[in-house]
Amino acid sequence: MKKISLMGATGSIGIQTLDILRSNPESFNLVAFSAGRNIGLARKIIEEFKPAFVSMQEKEDAEKLRSEYPGITFSYGEEGLSGTATHEQAEIVLNAVVGSVGLKPTLEAIKCGKTIALANKETLVTAGHLVMSAAKMKGVSLLPVDSEHSAIFQCLQGENDKNIERLIITASGGSFRDRTREELADVAVEDALNHPNWSMGAKITIDSATMMNKGLEVIEAHWLFSLPYEKISVLLHRESIIHSMVEFHDSSIIAQLGSPDMRVPIQYALTYPDRMPLESAKRLNLAEAGKLHFQEMDFERFRCLQLAYEAGREGGSAPTVLNAANEIAVAAFLDGRIRFLEIDDLVERALETHSLIKEPDLEAILETDKRTRQYVQSLLA
Ligand code: NDP
Ligand code: MG
Repeated sequence: MKKISLMGATGSIGIQTLDILRSNPESFNLVAFSAGRNIGLARKIIEEFKPAFVSMQEKEDAEKLRSEYPGITFSYGEEGLSGTATHEQAEIVLNAVVGSVGLKPTLEAIKCGKTIALANKETLVTAGHLVMSAAKMKGVSLLPVDSEHSAIFQCLQGENDKNIERLIITASGGSFRDRTREELADVAVEDALNHPNWSMGAKITIDSATMMNKGLEVIEAHWLFSLPYEKISVLLHRESIIHSMVEFHDSSIIAQLGSPDMRVPIQYALTYPDRMPLESAKRLNLAEAGKLHFQEMDFERFRCLQLAYEAGREGGSAPTVLNAANEIAVAAFLDGRIRFLEIDDLVERALETHSLIKEPDLEAILETDKRTRQYVQSLLA
């Protein structure tokens, strides 16, 4: 029986994680979880899974629940996320919150020696160097949940990392893959939220449409697999059947395939190095799929991907700025305050204005994250 703590239980990844726990009550026990503002769903999760600890984003929600469920410990805000990440009973912490708010609790979970299943890519983009060195020092495993990174991780089982020629991260192309840059000027929020292959949270769906998601994934891969950026490439693959590949020195390429279903990489992170049946997953029928398509990425069309490579190569505090500016810009687009292509502009301006810190410690990272948010907010005002 593995004891799980789940951060972001009410989100897209969180709900799919609960589905896996529900189907395998003999293998997993949910000991703690955190939610944001969705108190209705938090109640349902409490009643079904009976965890020992629950954290809400807001104090008033935590207090309301505390009066309803006297046997459970409730917390809220930053302290609550930290309590979820470090809960004494938890063996695996699955981080599925969205945004760099996931950074500090991840570092705290590592300090407590928890195994980390990481969906929250913003954490690695914001401070990959701190997270990776903390994990190494503590001997903690960081298991990828993001489908591309799970695919690469699966391709690398039993392989010597020294033989890697390059990683090939596949990209579906997002909601606007068939539109020219000119056609993106006036796209509506609802259209951007309509992803052709995956059903996900709002922020990552917009990130997929701008291709920032792929950029964040390139930086995430750089840290997870400790490879330089010239060894990480991106390939457009409309069908989302090949989830990513690894090319080796001898020219062999190993790929991981499957229907687009996030429960597969989530479950793999929870059961690694074992595998469990996933009865409800749609099995891939390659004869039915017939053809797979591949295409080079257009870096002018997808400026965010270019910006992410540049920020990644620059290193230091640049990826922190990229991520924070993007979080504010995407929220502004979702609120109808800016147009789609202004997301790229805001991120670019934040990167241009920032004075690089070469080796930022946690304090410098958190300060950079905060200042970038303020700067982009000021541009919006
Ligand atoms: P969602 O927006 O669906 O869910 C986010 C979760 O975080 C919710 O539980 C939300 O609570 C909670 N949350 C949001 N802000 C805060 C906050 N300030 N404090 C505490 N909790 C908060 O996101 P996804 O599940 O789509 O994505 C989660 C992460 O996983 C992201 O980093 C994303 O990039 C990554 N990812 C997602 C994939 C997917 O298929 N969805 C695929 C690969 C990676 P509430 O809803 O209660 O307000
Ligand atoms: Mg992904």
